[in-house]
Amino acid sequence: MERIISNEAKTQVGKEILLKGWLHSLRLLGKVNFLILRDRGGLIQVVVEEKSELNKVKDLQPGSILTIKGRVQESSQTDLGVEVVIPEINVDVAVEEPWPVEVNKPEIRAGLDTILDNRPLTLRNERIAAVFKVQATLLETFREYLIENDFVEFMGPSIISASSEGGSELFNVDYFGYEAKLAQSNQLYKQMMVGVYERVFGTLKCFRAENSNTTRHITEATQLEFEVGFIEKFEEILDWEEKIMRVFLKKLHEKNAKELKMFEGVAELPDDSEIPRMTLKEALELYHKETGTDERNEPDLSPEAERFLCKYAKEKHGTDFIFVTHFPREKCAFYAKPNKENPEVCNYGDLLCNGAEIISGGQRMDKYEDLVESLKAKDLDPKDFVDYLSIFKYGMPSHGGFGLGLERLTKQILNLENIREAVLFPSDPKRIAGVSFSRSFGQGDDMVEAVRKLLDDNKLKYEFFEHEATVTSEDAAKVRGTKAEEGAKALVLRGKKTGRNVMVVLPGNKKINMKKIAELEGEKFSFETPERLKEKHGLEVGGVPPFGNLLGLETYFDKSVQDEEYASFNCGSKFKSIRMKSEDLVEVVSPKVAEISQ
Ligand code: ATP
Ligand code: MN
Repeated sequence: MERIISNEAKTQVGKEILLKGWLHSLRLLGKVNFLILRDRGGLIQVVVEEKSELNKVKDLQPGSILTIKGRVQESSQTDLGVEVVIPEINVDVAVEEPWPVEVNKPEIRAGLDTILDNRPLTLRNERIAAVFKVQATLLETFREYLIENDFVEFMGPSIISASSEGGSELFNVDYFGYEAKLAQSNQLYKQMMVGVYERVFGTLKCFRAENSNTTRHITEATQLEFEVGFIEKFEEILDWEEKIMRVFLKKLHEKNAKELKMFEGVAELPDDSEIPRMTLKEALELYHKETGTDERNEPDLSPEAERFLCKYAKEKHGTDFIFVTHFPREKCAFYAKPNKENPEVCNYGDLLCNGAEIISGGQRMDKYEDLVESLKAKDLDPKDFVDYLSIFKYGMPSHGGFGLGLERLTKQILNLENIREAVLFPSDPKRIAGVSFSRSFGQGDDMVEAVRKLLDDNKLKYEFFEHEATVTSEDAAKVRGTKAEEGAKALVLRGKKTGRNVMVVLPGNKKINMKKIAELEGEKFSFETPERLKEKHGLEVGGVPPFGNLLGLETYFDKSVQDEEYASFNCGSKFKSIRMKSEDLVEVVSPKVAEISQ
Protein backbone atom coordinates (compact mmCIF):
# COMPACT_ATOMS: atom_id res chain seq x y z
CA MET A 1 0.00 0.00 0.00
CA GLU A 2 1.30 3.46 -0.86
CA ARG A 3 1.85 6.04 1.87
CA ILE A 4 -0.45 9.04 1.91
CA ILE A 5 0.07 12.35 3.72
CA SER A 6 -2.26 13.31 6.58
CA ASN A 7 -3.83 16.28 4.84
CA GLU A 8 -4.95 14.06 1.95
CA ALA A 9 -6.85 11.73 4.27
CA LYS A 10 -10.12 13.60 3.84
CA THR A 11 -10.32 12.38 0.24
CA GLN A 12 -10.21 8.78 1.49
CA VAL A 13 -13.23 8.53 3.81
CA GLY A 14 -14.26 4.91 4.30
CA LYS A 15 -11.01 3.65 2.80
CA GLU A 16 -7.97 1.95 4.24
CA ILE A 17 -4.83 4.15 4.21
CA LEU A 18 -1.17 3.94 5.19
CA LEU A 19 0.46 6.77 7.14
CA LYS A 20 4.03 7.31 8.26
CA GLY A 21 5.17 9.96 10.66
CA TRP A 22 6.22 10.97 14.16
CA LEU A 23 4.30 10.22 17.31
CA HIS A 24 3.17 13.70 18.34
CA SER A 25 1.17 12.88 21.45
CA LEU A 26 -0.93 10.26 23.14
CA ARG A 27 -4.07 10.85 25.14
CA LEU A 28 -4.89 7.79 27.20
CA LEU A 29 -8.50 7.72 28.33
CA GLY A 30 -8.85 4.03 29.10
CA LYS A 31 -11.25 2.47 26.63
CA VAL A 32 -10.68 4.97 23.83
CA ASN A 33 -7.23 6.46 23.30
CA PHE A 34 -6.08 9.13 20.90
CA LEU A 35 -2.77 9.02 19.14
CA ILE A 36 -1.75 12.11 17.20
CA LEU A 37 0.63 11.49 14.32
CA ARG A 38 2.68 14.25 12.68
CA ASP A 39 3.89 14.22 9.09
CA ARG A 40 4.70 16.93 6.57
CA GLY A 41 1.01 17.59 6.06
CA GLY A 42 0.35 18.35 9.72
CA LEU A 43 -1.35 16.40 12.51
CA ILE A 44 -3.87 13.58 12.25
CA GLN A 45 -5.80 11.79 14.97
CA VAL A 46 -5.75 8.02 15.26
CA VAL A 47 -8.27 6.33 17.56
CA VAL A 48 -6.72 3.35 19.34
CA GLU A 49 -9.09 0.93 21.07
CA GLU A 50 -7.36 -2.41 20.68
CA LYS A 51 -5.22 -3.15 23.74
CA SER A 52 -2.48 -4.94 21.79
CA GLU A 53 -2.06 -1.91 19.52
CA LEU A 54 -2.01 0.47 22.45
CA ASN A 55 0.67 -1.58 24.19
CA LYS A 56 3.02 -0.99 21.26
CA VAL A 57 3.01 2.77 21.81
CA LYS A 58 1.92 3.55 25.34
CA ASP A 59 5.44 3.87 26.77
CA LEU A 60 6.99 5.63 23.80
CA GLN A 61 8.18 9.22 23.86
CA PRO A 62 7.03 11.75 21.27
CA GLY A 63 9.20 11.65 18.17
CA SER A 64 8.95 7.88 17.76
CA ILE A 65 8.49 6.99 14.12
CA LEU A 66 5.40 4.97 13.31
CA THR A 67 3.75 3.34 10.32
CA ILE A 68 0.01 3.14 10.75
CA LYS A 69 -2.55 1.35 8.61
CA GLY A 70 -6.17 2.20 9.32
CA ARG A 71 -9.55 3.24 8.03
CA VAL A 72 -10.51 6.90 7.50
CA GLN A 73 -13.70 8.01 9.19
CA GLU A 74 -15.41 11.40 9.28
CA SER A 75 -15.12 13.25 12.56
CA SER A 76 -16.54 16.56 13.69
CA GLN A 77 -14.09 16.65 16.61
CA THR A 78 -10.89 17.17 14.62
CA ASP A 79 -9.53 20.09 12.59
CA LEU A 80 -9.03 17.81 9.60
CA GLY A 81 -12.65 16.64 9.66
CA VAL A 82 -11.48 13.02 9.62
CA GLU A 83 -9.69 10.56 11.87
CA VAL A 84 -8.20 7.11 11.47
CA VAL A 85 -9.79 4.12 13.21
CA ILE A 86 -8.95 0.44 13.75
CA PRO A 87 -5.23 1.10 13.34
CA GLU A 88 -2.54 -1.46 12.87
CA ILE A 89 0.60 0.15 14.26
CA ASN A 90 4.21 -0.59 13.50
CA VAL A 91 6.97 1.11 15.52
CA ASP A 92 9.84 1.91 13.14
CA VAL A 93 11.94 3.98 15.55
CA ALA A 94 11.20 3.88 19.26
CA VAL A 95 12.18 6.99 21.20
CA GLU A 96 12.72 6.35 24.89
CA GLU A 97 14.74 9.46 25.76
CA PRO A 98 12.60 11.97 27.69
CA TRP A 99 12.43 15.40 26.04
CA PRO A 100 14.35 18.28 27.66
CA VAL A 101 11.48 20.62 26.72
CA GLU A 102 7.90 19.86 25.84
CA VAL A 103 7.51 20.75 22.17
CA ASN A 104 4.28 18.96 21.30
CA LYS A 105 1.99 21.64 22.71
CA PRO A 106 0.61 24.43 20.47
CA GLU A 107 3.06 26.77 22.18
CA ILE A 108 6.19 25.86 24.14
CA ARG A 109 5.95 27.05 27.71
CA ALA A 110 9.57 28.13 28.23
CA GLY A 111 11.65 31.27 27.82
CA LEU A 112 13.32 32.12 24.52
CA ASP A 113 16.77 31.18 25.86
CA THR A 114 15.61 27.68 26.72
CA ILE A 115 13.93 27.41 23.33
CA LEU A 116 17.15 28.44 21.56
CA ASP A 117 19.30 26.22 23.76
CA ASN A 118 17.30 23.28 22.44
CA ARG A 119 16.90 24.63 18.92
CA PRO A 120 17.18 21.42 16.87
CA LEU A 121 14.31 20.00 18.91
CA THR A 122 12.15 23.07 19.50
CA LEU A 123 12.01 23.67 15.74
CA ARG A 124 9.63 20.71 15.71
CA ASN A 125 7.03 22.68 17.64
CA GLU A 126 4.04 23.51 15.43
CA ARG A 127 4.09 27.26 15.94
CA ILE A 128 7.86 27.54 15.59
CA ALA A 129 7.83 25.42 12.45
CA ALA A 130 5.10 27.72 11.09
CA VAL A 131 7.39 30.77 11.39
CA PHE A 132 9.91 29.22 9.03
CA LYS A 133 7.31 27.99 6.59
CA VAL A 134 6.09 31.57 6.35
CA GLN A 135 9.68 32.73 5.90
CA ALA A 136 10.22 30.23 3.10
CA THR A 137 7.12 31.56 1.35
CA LEU A 138 8.41 35.14 1.64
CA LEU A 139 11.70 34.16 0.05
CA GLU A 140 10.00 32.15 -2.69
CA THR A 141 7.57 34.97 -3.44
CA PHE A 142 10.34 37.56 -3.66
CA ARG A 143 12.15 35.46 -6.24
CA GLU A 144 9.07 34.48 -8.17
CA TYR A 145 7.65 37.99 -8.41
CA LEU A 146 10.90 39.63 -9.49
CA ILE A 147 11.75 36.94 -12.03
CA GLU A 148 8.27 37.46 -13.52
CA ASN A 149 9.17 41.13 -13.83
CA ASP A 150 12.35 40.52 -15.76
CA PHE A 151 14.82 40.76 -12.89
CA VAL A 152 17.97 38.63 -12.87
CA GLU A 153 19.14 36.99 -9.67
CA PHE A 154 22.81 37.43 -8.74
CA MET A 155 24.97 36.09 -5.92
CA GLY A 156 27.24 38.72 -4.40
CA PRO A 157 30.41 38.04 -2.43
CA SER A 158 30.35 37.58 1.36
CA ILE A 159 34.09 38.00 1.90
CA ILE A 160 35.22 41.45 0.86
CA SER A 161 38.38 43.46 1.24
CA ALA A 162 36.93 46.74 2.53
CA SER A 163 33.72 48.14 3.92
CA SER A 164 30.93 48.31 1.36
CA GLU A 165 29.58 51.54 2.77
CA GLY A 166 32.20 52.85 5.13
CA GLY A 167 31.71 53.43 8.78
CA SER A 168 29.73 50.62 10.28
CA GLU A 169 31.04 47.70 12.26
CA LEU A 170 32.37 44.75 10.30
CA PHE A 171 33.66 41.35 11.30
CA ASN A 172 37.27 40.68 10.39
CA VAL A 173 38.36 37.50 8.68
CA ASP A 174 41.91 36.24 8.84
CA TYR A 175 42.41 35.70 5.14
CA PHE A 176 45.76 34.00 4.62
CA GLY A 177 47.29 36.59 6.90
CA TYR A 178 45.49 39.54 5.30
CA GLU A 179 42.58 41.20 7.02
CA ALA A 180 39.40 40.65 5.02
CA LYS A 181 35.86 41.58 6.09
CA LEU A 182 32.47 39.89 6.06
CA ALA A 183 30.07 41.85 3.84
CA GLN A 184 27.48 43.94 5.64
CA SER A 185 25.43 44.46 2.47
CA ASN A 186 25.71 43.97 -1.28
CA GLN A 187 25.05 47.58 -2.11
CA LEU A 188 28.01 48.29 -4.36
CA TYR A 189 27.81 44.98 -6.17
CA LYS A 190 24.15 45.24 -6.98
CA GLN A 191 24.74 48.65 -8.49
CA MET A 192 27.46 47.13 -10.65
CA MET A 193 24.94 44.49 -11.73
CA VAL A 194 22.46 47.19 -12.82
CA GLY A 195 25.10 48.15 -15.41
CA VAL A 196 24.78 44.59 -16.71
CA TYR A 197 21.09 43.65 -16.53
CA GLU A 198 19.16 46.82 -15.53
CA ARG A 199 17.01 44.84 -13.12
CA VAL A 200 18.64 42.64 -10.49
CA PHE A 201 17.99 41.09 -7.13
CA GLY A 202 19.99 38.95 -4.76
CA THR A 203 19.63 37.20 -1.43
CA LEU A 204 22.71 37.50 0.69
CA LYS A 205 23.85 36.75 4.19
CA CYS A 206 25.10 39.96 5.71
CA PHE A 207 27.09 40.38 8.88
CA ARG A 208 26.99 43.28 11.31
CA ALA A 209 29.37 43.42 14.23
CA GLU A 210 27.05 45.52 16.35
CA ASN A 211 27.30 44.57 19.97
CA SER A 212 23.68 45.42 20.68
CA ASN A 213 21.20 43.16 22.34
CA THR A 214 17.93 44.46 20.95
CA THR A 215 14.87 42.45 19.93
CA ARG A 216 15.38 43.51 16.31
CA HIS A 217 19.09 43.04 15.58
CA ILE A 218 21.16 39.95 14.92
CA THR A 219 24.74 39.73 13.69
CA GLU A 220 24.04 37.42 10.74
CA ALA A 221 20.96 38.35 8.74
CA THR A 222 19.56 37.60 5.32
CA GLN A 223 19.24 40.60 3.07
CA LEU A 224 16.89 40.67 0.11
CA GLU A 225 18.59 43.11 -2.24
CA PHE A 226 16.75 44.86 -5.05
CA GLU A 227 18.07 47.31 -7.65
CA VAL A 228 16.47 48.69 -10.79
CA GLY A 229 17.76 50.93 -13.59
CA PHE A 230 16.10 53.57 -15.80
CA ILE A 231 13.80 55.01 -13.16
CA GLU A 232 12.22 58.41 -13.76
CA LYS A 233 11.77 59.31 -10.15
CA PHE A 234 12.54 58.17 -6.62
CA GLU A 235 8.92 57.29 -5.83
CA GLU A 236 9.10 54.37 -8.25
CA ILE A 237 11.24 52.57 -5.68
CA LEU A 238 8.51 53.05 -3.06
CA ASP A 239 5.95 51.79 -5.60
CA TRP A 240 7.97 48.60 -6.07
CA GLU A 241 8.21 48.13 -2.30
CA GLU A 242 4.46 48.61 -1.87
CA LYS A 243 3.68 46.20 -4.71
CA ILE A 244 6.01 43.58 -3.25
CA MET A 245 4.38 43.86 0.17
CA ARG A 246 0.97 43.24 -1.39
CA VAL A 247 2.28 40.23 -3.26
CA PHE A 248 3.86 38.87 -0.04
CA LEU A 249 0.62 39.13 1.92
CA LYS A 250 -1.51 37.75 -0.88
CA LYS A 251 0.74 34.74 -1.25
CA LEU A 252 0.88 34.12 2.51
CA HIS A 253 -2.90 34.14 2.76
CA GLU A 254 -3.13 31.72 -0.16
CA LYS A 255 -0.41 29.36 0.86
CA ASN A 256 -0.03 29.67 4.63
CA ALA A 257 -3.50 30.47 5.95
CA LYS A 258 -3.16 27.67 8.49
CA GLU A 259 0.17 29.02 9.76
CA LEU A 260 -1.02 32.65 9.91
CA LYS A 261 -3.83 31.62 12.25
CA MET A 262 -1.27 30.76 14.91
CA PHE A 263 -0.18 34.41 15.24
CA GLU A 264 -1.86 37.52 16.56
CA GLY A 265 -1.57 40.92 14.94
CA VAL A 266 -0.40 39.70 11.50
CA ALA A 267 0.35 42.75 9.32
CA GLU A 268 -2.43 43.95 7.03
CA LEU A 269 -2.50 45.86 3.77
CA PRO A 270 -6.08 45.69 2.42
CA ASP A 271 -6.62 46.08 -1.34
CA ASP A 272 -8.50 49.33 -0.88
CA SER A 273 -5.83 50.99 1.26
CA GLU A 274 -2.55 52.59 0.30
CA ILE A 275 0.61 52.71 2.35
CA PRO A 276 0.77 56.29 3.64
CA ARG A 277 3.92 58.23 2.71
CA MET A 278 5.33 61.11 4.72
CA THR A 279 8.63 62.86 4.97
CA LEU A 280 10.72 62.50 8.12
CA LYS A 281 9.95 66.15 8.86
CA GLU A 282 6.20 65.58 8.61
CA ALA A 283 6.47 62.37 10.62
CA LEU A 284 8.31 64.03 13.49
CA GLU A 285 5.88 66.98 13.47
CA LEU A 286 2.98 64.57 13.72
CA TYR A 287 4.69 62.60 16.47
CA HIS A 288 5.24 65.80 18.40
CA LYS A 289 1.70 67.08 17.86
CA GLU A 290 0.05 63.82 18.88
CA THR A 291 2.27 62.71 21.76
CA GLY A 292 4.10 65.82 22.94
CA THR A 293 7.47 64.10 22.41
CA ASP A 294 9.74 66.49 20.57
CA GLU A 295 12.23 64.76 18.29
CA ARG A 296 11.90 67.29 15.50
CA ASN A 297 15.63 67.93 15.40
CA GLU A 298 16.59 64.26 15.20
CA PRO A 299 18.07 62.91 11.94
CA ASP A 300 16.28 59.56 12.36
CA LEU A 301 13.23 57.91 13.95
CA SER A 302 13.41 56.54 17.47
CA PRO A 303 11.87 53.08 18.10
CA GLU A 304 9.00 54.85 19.96
CA ALA A 305 8.36 57.13 16.99
CA GLU A 306 8.34 54.09 14.67
CA ARG A 307 5.75 52.39 16.86
CA PHE A 308 3.64 55.53 17.01
CA LEU A 309 3.71 55.96 13.21
CA CYS A 310 2.60 52.39 12.57
CA LYS A 311 -0.25 52.79 15.03
CA TYR A 312 -1.21 55.99 13.28
CA ALA A 313 -1.16 54.24 9.87
CA LYS A 314 -3.41 51.51 11.21
CA GLU A 315 -5.94 53.93 12.69
CA LYS A 316 -6.03 56.41 9.80
CA HIS A 317 -5.27 54.22 6.80
CA GLY A 318 -6.21 50.70 7.88
CA THR A 319 -2.74 49.27 7.27
CA ASP A 320 0.25 48.34 9.43
CA PHE A 321 2.71 49.83 6.92
CA ILE A 322 3.99 53.38 6.52
CA PHE A 323 6.75 55.04 4.48
CA VAL A 324 8.97 57.71 5.98
CA THR A 325 11.11 59.49 3.39
CA HIS A 326 13.63 62.25 2.80
CA PHE A 327 16.13 61.73 5.58
CA PRO A 328 18.89 64.31 6.08
CA ARG A 329 22.11 63.72 4.12
CA GLU A 330 24.14 63.15 7.27
CA LYS A 331 22.03 60.08 8.08
CA CYS A 332 22.21 58.63 4.56
CA ALA A 333 24.98 56.56 2.97
CA PHE A 334 27.39 58.29 0.59
CA TYR A 335 25.66 56.90 -2.52
CA ALA A 336 22.19 58.28 -1.64
CA LYS A 337 20.98 60.89 -4.10
CA PRO A 338 20.16 64.31 -2.69
CA ASN A 339 16.75 65.75 -3.45
CA LYS A 340 16.79 68.36 -6.24
CA GLU A 341 14.47 70.84 -4.55
CA ASN A 342 15.94 70.38 -1.10
CA PRO A 343 19.54 69.10 -1.27
CA GLU A 344 19.71 68.90 2.53
CA VAL A 345 17.71 65.66 2.34
CA CYS A 346 18.05 62.55 0.19
CA ASN A 347 15.68 60.66 -2.05
CA TYR A 348 15.73 57.90 0.45
CA GLY A 349 13.04 56.25 2.57
CA ASP A 350 12.30 53.57 5.12
CA LEU A 351 9.29 51.30 5.08
CA LEU A 352 7.98 50.53 8.56
CA CYS A 353 5.71 47.63 9.44
CA ASN A 354 4.04 46.77 12.73
CA GLY A 355 6.27 49.16 14.68
CA ALA A 356 9.72 48.78 13.12
CA GLU A 357 11.76 49.44 9.97
CA ILE A 358 11.79 46.57 7.50
CA ILE A 359 13.27 48.26 4.40
CA SER A 360 15.67 51.06 3.57
CA GLY A 361 15.76 52.18 -0.02
CA GLY A 362 16.08 55.03 -2.41
CA GLN A 363 17.61 56.59 -5.45
CA ARG A 364 21.39 56.39 -5.95
CA MET A 365 23.84 58.96 -7.24
CA ASP A 366 24.71 58.16 -10.85
CA LYS A 367 27.47 60.69 -11.71
CA TYR A 368 31.11 59.90 -11.11
CA GLU A 369 32.01 63.40 -9.85
CA ASP A 370 29.10 63.52 -7.41
CA LEU A 371 30.17 60.23 -5.90
CA VAL A 372 33.80 61.23 -5.47
CA GLU A 373 32.73 64.43 -3.77
CA SER A 374 30.28 62.62 -1.54
CA LEU A 375 32.87 60.03 -0.49
CA LYS A 376 35.28 62.79 0.51
CA ALA A 377 32.56 64.60 2.44
CA LYS A 378 32.09 61.41 4.48
CA ASP A 379 35.85 61.09 5.08
CA LEU A 380 36.10 58.04 2.84
CA ASP A 381 38.96 57.63 0.40
CA PRO A 382 37.84 57.36 -3.26
CA LYS A 383 40.95 55.19 -3.85
CA ASP A 384 39.28 52.44 -1.81
CA PHE A 385 36.33 52.51 -4.22
CA VAL A 386 38.02 52.44 -7.64
CA ASP A 387 36.21 49.34 -8.87
CA TYR A 388 32.84 50.66 -7.84
CA LEU A 389 33.53 54.11 -9.22
CA SER A 390 34.62 52.72 -12.61
CA ILE A 391 31.05 51.82 -13.56
CA PHE A 392 30.06 55.47 -13.44
CA LYS A 393 32.66 56.35 -16.08
CA TYR A 394 31.12 53.84 -18.47
CA GLY A 395 27.44 54.62 -18.33
CA MET A 396 25.10 54.14 -15.38
CA PRO A 397 21.42 54.98 -15.83
CA SER A 398 19.34 56.71 -13.20
CA HIS A 399 18.72 53.90 -10.71
CA GLY A 400 17.67 52.93 -7.20
CA GLY A 401 16.77 50.02 -5.01
CA PHE A 402 16.36 48.72 -1.51
CA GLY A 403 17.55 46.24 1.12
CA LEU A 404 15.00 44.20 3.05
CA GLY A 405 15.91 42.08 6.06
CA LEU A 406 14.20 38.69 5.71
CA GLU A 407 14.20 37.90 9.43
CA ARG A 408 13.05 41.41 10.33
CA LEU A 409 10.28 41.11 7.75
CA THR A 410 9.17 37.76 9.18
CA LYS A 411 9.16 39.17 12.71
CA GLN A 412 7.16 42.26 11.78
CA ILE A 413 4.67 40.48 9.53
CA LEU A 414 3.91 37.83 12.14
CA ASN A 415 4.18 40.38 14.96
CA LEU A 416 6.74 38.31 16.88
CA GLU A 417 8.33 39.72 20.00
CA ASN A 418 11.95 38.95 19.18
CA ILE A 419 13.81 38.66 15.87
CA ARG A 420 15.56 35.53 17.18
CA GLU A 421 12.21 33.74 16.86
CA ALA A 422 12.53 34.30 13.11
CA VAL A 423 16.05 32.88 12.76
CA LEU A 424 16.67 29.14 12.72
CA PHE A 425 20.10 29.34 14.37
CA PRO A 426 20.60 32.95 15.42
CA SER A 427 23.94 34.64 15.96
CA ASP A 428 24.06 37.63 18.27
CA PRO A 429 26.49 38.98 20.86
CA LYS A 430 25.73 35.96 23.09
CA ARG A 431 25.29 33.12 20.59
CA ILE A 432 26.90 31.71 17.48
CA ALA A 433 24.53 29.84 15.17
CA GLY A 434 22.10 29.35 18.03
CA VAL A 435 24.60 27.96 20.52
CA SER A 436 25.21 30.15 23.54
CA PHE A 437 28.78 31.02 24.43
CA SER A 438 28.48 29.39 27.82
CA ARG A 439 27.99 26.08 26.02
CA SER A 440 30.27 26.51 23.03
CA PHE A 441 33.05 27.98 25.13
CA GLY A 442 32.37 25.83 28.10
CA GLN A 443 31.32 27.51 31.34
CA GLY A 444 29.86 24.08 32.07
CA ASP A 445 33.22 22.49 31.27
CA ASP A 446 34.93 25.02 33.51
CA MET A 447 32.70 23.74 36.30
CA VAL A 448 33.75 20.12 35.73
CA GLU A 449 37.37 21.21 35.77
CA ALA A 450 36.89 23.24 38.94
CA VAL A 451 35.29 20.29 40.73
CA ARG A 452 37.98 17.85 39.60
CA LYS A 453 40.70 20.23 40.64
CA LEU A 454 39.15 20.65 44.08
CA LEU A 455 38.92 16.88 44.53
CA ASP A 456 42.45 16.31 43.22
CA ASP A 457 43.88 19.05 45.43
CA ASN A 458 42.26 17.37 48.41
CA LYS A 459 43.57 13.98 47.27
CA LEU A 460 40.06 12.53 47.20
CA LYS A 461 39.17 9.51 45.11
CA TYR A 462 36.35 9.68 42.59
CA GLU A 463 35.10 8.09 39.39
CA PHE A 464 34.39 10.29 36.36
CA PHE A 465 31.82 9.34 33.70
CA GLU A 466 30.92 10.78 30.30
CA HIS A 467 27.56 9.66 29.02
CA GLU A 468 24.45 10.57 27.03
CA ALA A 469 22.47 13.58 28.24
CA THR A 470 20.46 13.10 31.41
CA VAL A 471 18.18 15.66 32.96
CA THR A 472 16.32 13.87 35.72
CA SER A 473 18.08 12.09 38.54
CA GLU A 474 16.39 8.82 37.55
CA ASP A 475 17.90 8.98 34.06
CA ALA A 476 21.24 9.85 35.52
CA ALA A 477 21.14 6.86 37.86
CA LYS A 478 20.18 4.64 34.93
CA VAL A 479 23.05 5.64 32.63
CA ARG A 480 25.60 5.54 35.44
CA GLY A 481 24.29 2.21 36.60
CA THR A 482 23.91 3.51 40.14
CA LYS A 483 21.01 3.47 42.63
CA ALA A 484 18.55 6.36 42.59
CA GLU A 485 19.07 7.02 46.29
CA GLU A 486 22.80 7.46 45.87
CA GLY A 487 22.27 10.30 43.40
CA ALA A 488 23.04 13.66 44.98
CA LYS A 489 20.48 15.97 43.39
CA ALA A 490 21.57 19.61 43.50
CA LEU A 491 18.94 22.32 43.09
CA VAL A 492 19.37 26.08 42.97
CA LEU A 493 16.57 28.01 44.69
CA ARG A 494 15.71 31.67 44.48
CA GLY A 495 14.47 33.79 47.39
CA LYS A 496 11.05 35.22 46.55
CA LYS A 497 11.81 38.47 48.39
CA THR A 498 15.53 38.98 47.87
CA GLY A 499 16.20 37.04 44.66
CA ARG A 500 19.14 35.43 46.50
CA ASN A 501 20.24 31.93 45.42
CA VAL A 502 20.86 29.01 47.76
CA MET A 503 21.72 25.44 46.88
CA VAL A 504 20.01 22.39 48.32
CA VAL A 505 21.29 18.85 47.85
CA LEU A 506 19.22 15.73 48.49
CA PRO A 507 19.08 12.08 47.46
CA GLY A 508 17.81 11.46 43.94
CA ASN A 509 14.63 9.78 45.13
CA LYS A 510 13.55 12.53 47.56
CA LYS A 511 11.71 15.83 47.22
CA ILE A 512 12.62 19.17 48.67
CA ASN A 513 10.65 20.50 51.65
CA MET A 514 10.25 24.17 50.72
CA LYS A 515 8.63 25.00 54.06
CA LYS A 516 11.71 23.85 55.88
CA ILE A 517 13.98 25.99 53.70
CA ALA A 518 11.74 29.00 54.34
CA GLU A 519 12.08 28.36 58.07
CA LEU A 520 15.84 28.01 57.90
CA GLU A 521 16.41 31.02 55.67
CA GLY A 522 13.66 33.37 56.83
CA GLU A 523 12.02 33.80 53.42
CA LYS A 524 10.11 31.75 50.89
CA PHE A 525 11.99 30.13 48.01
CA SER A 526 11.12 28.78 44.57
CA PHE A 527 13.16 27.00 41.91
CA GLU A 528 15.53 29.24 40.00
CA THR A 529 14.56 29.57 36.30
CA PRO A 530 16.68 27.78 33.69
CA GLU A 531 17.41 31.17 32.06
CA ARG A 532 18.82 32.73 35.21
CA LEU A 533 20.67 29.58 36.16
CA LYS A 534 22.43 29.85 32.83
CA GLU A 535 22.98 33.57 32.95
CA LYS A 536 24.26 33.75 36.52
CA HIS A 537 26.08 30.46 36.93
CA GLY A 538 26.61 29.23 33.37
CA LEU A 539 24.83 25.98 34.23
CA GLU A 540 21.98 24.08 32.68
CA VAL A 541 19.22 22.27 34.50
CA GLY A 542 20.45 18.73 34.93
CA GLY A 543 24.09 19.82 35.05
CA VAL A 544 24.26 21.48 38.47
CA PRO A 545 26.84 19.76 40.71
CA PRO A 546 26.37 19.72 44.51
CA PHE A 547 29.27 22.15 44.96
CA GLY A 548 27.45 25.29 46.11
CA ASN A 549 30.77 26.36 47.63
CA LEU A 550 32.29 26.72 44.15
CA LEU A 551 29.37 28.91 43.09
CA GLY A 552 29.54 31.03 46.21
CA LEU A 553 26.14 29.83 47.43
CA GLU A 554 24.83 29.00 50.87
CA THR A 555 24.49 25.21 50.64
CA TYR A 556 22.26 22.76 52.51
CA PHE A 557 22.63 18.98 52.37
CA ASP A 558 19.77 16.78 53.42
CA LYS A 559 20.78 14.54 56.31
CA SER A 560 20.02 11.40 54.32
CA VAL A 561 22.67 12.18 51.69
CA GLN A 562 25.14 10.52 54.07
CA ASP A 563 22.97 7.38 54.49
CA GLU A 564 24.48 5.99 51.31
CA GLU A 565 28.14 5.20 51.15
CA TYR A 566 28.53 6.79 47.71
CA ALA A 567 27.13 9.92 46.11
CA SER A 568 26.79 10.33 42.33
CA PHE A 569 25.92 13.53 40.52
CA ASN A 570 25.95 15.26 37.14
CA CYS A 571 28.77 17.68 37.09
CA GLY A 572 28.69 20.93 35.10
CA SER A 573 26.78 19.36 32.23
CA LYS A 574 24.17 16.76 31.47
CA PHE A 575 26.87 14.66 29.85
CA LYS A 576 29.32 14.29 32.72
CA SER A 577 29.11 12.88 36.18
CA ILE A 578 31.12 11.96 39.21
CA ARG A 579 30.79 9.23 41.84
CA MET A 580 32.57 9.60 45.17
CA LYS A 581 32.27 8.76 48.87
CA SER A 582 29.45 10.71 50.54
CA GLU A 583 31.54 11.59 53.55
CA ASP A 584 34.27 13.01 51.29
CA LEU A 585 31.67 15.10 49.50
CA VAL A 586 30.31 16.52 52.74
CA GLU A 587 33.80 17.26 53.95
CA VAL A 588 34.93 19.09 50.84
CA VAL A 589 31.72 21.12 50.36
CA SER A 590 31.16 21.70 54.11
CA PRO A 591 27.43 22.45 53.77
CA LYS A 592 24.86 23.00 56.49
CA VAL A 593 23.32 19.57 57.12
CA ALA A 594 19.61 19.48 57.99
CA GLU A 595 16.40 17.59 57.32
CA ILE A 596 15.26 19.37 54.21
CA SER A 597 13.53 16.58 52.28
CA GLN A 598 10.04 15.17 52.51
P1 ATP B 1 18.15 49.55 11.88
O1 ATP B 1 18.00 51.07 11.81
O2 ATP B 1 16.87 48.84 12.12
O3 ATP B 1 19.27 49.11 12.74
P2 ATP B 1 19.64 49.84 9.47
O4 ATP B 1 19.01 51.10 8.96
O5 ATP B 1 20.94 49.88 10.12
O6 ATP B 1 18.59 49.10 10.40
P3 ATP B 1 19.93 48.97 6.75
O7 ATP B 1 21.36 49.11 6.50
O8 ATP B 1 19.01 50.01 6.25
O9 ATP B 1 19.69 48.76 8.30
O10 ATP B 1 19.50 47.49 6.27
C1 ATP B 1 18.34 47.21 5.51
C2 ATP B 1 17.40 46.29 6.24
O11 ATP B 1 18.08 45.14 6.74
C3 ATP B 1 16.78 46.90 7.48
O12 ATP B 1 15.67 47.68 7.14
C4 ATP B 1 16.39 45.65 8.25
O13 ATP B 1 15.23 45.06 7.71
C5 ATP B 1 17.55 44.72 7.97
N1 ATP B 1 18.58 44.77 9.02
C6 ATP B 1 19.54 45.70 9.17
N2 ATP B 1 20.34 45.43 10.21
C7 ATP B 1 19.89 44.29 10.75
C8 ATP B 1 20.31 43.50 11.84
N3 ATP B 1 21.35 43.81 12.59
N4 ATP B 1 19.59 42.38 12.12
C9 ATP B 1 18.53 42.05 11.35
N5 ATP B 1 18.10 42.75 10.31
C10 ATP B 1 18.76 43.87 9.99
MN1 MN C 1 17.87 51.41 7.35
